[in-house]
Amino acid sequence: MTASLVHACRDAGVRDGRVLDAVREVDRASFLPRGQRRQATRDAPLPIGEGQTTSQPSLIARMVEALGLTDRDSVLEVGTGSGYQTAILSRLARSVVSVDRHPSLVHTATAALEGLRNVRLVVGDGTLGWPDHAPYDAITVGATGPRVPPALLDQLADGGRLVIPVGPPSRSSLQRWVRHGADIVGPEHLMSVRFVPLIGREGFAEDD
Ligand code: SAH
Repeated sequence: MTASLVHACRDAGVRDGRVLDAVREVDRASFLPRGQRRQATRDAPLPIGEGQTTSQPSLIARMVEALGLTDRDSVLEVGTGSGYQTAILSRLARSVVSVDRHPSLVHTATAALEGLRNVRLVVGDGTLGWPDHAPYDAITVGATGPRVPPALLDQLADGGRLVIPVGPPSRSSLQRWVRHGADIVGPEHLMSVRFVPLIGREGFAEDD
């Protein structure tokens, strides 16, 4: 069933076998609203309510691959959305904290992720990171903002990687930043992408 998504990820250039295995193992349909489930194996973004979309699976896989995760890593995900990417991350890392600003999406994702013991879902403004569990070995952001929120760089552990889209929703730059001690190296431009807006204190204003 998910074989077509694995093919799409390979076609998009994903080579990491652990990432491809995670895409094979996670049932995307269980993270979608009922009316969208028949579309689950299409490598396309799909609506999930609250005006939000779950990203194209091959894009998610490229972002996860760019994080270079090991099973010792702690991860912060900003923008839980459907919880699909959270499930992929939970298979590749030691622990995942995932934050979304929409309580209803967190509620639905909590149900879909039930039983995953290394995942913690929270409601809040992820442009401020999530200091309670910092620092993180990897941070991934699923929505695009006007700039890199400083708190996310602050909350990176030594050697930590941040993968984040920056710029207008219609054409943002997916960037990677890496912390080496007190130094931050970046941005490395990975690709141009479309994303929903990151809305919050260090993101776009609600009515931008
Ligand atoms: N990877 C997710 C992407 C969901 S879309 C998926 O595939 O399902 C991006 C999400 O970012 C939306 O759910 C939106 O509510 C959330 N978001 C936007 N601004 C945010 C902020 N400041 N803090 C936390 N979540 C935010």
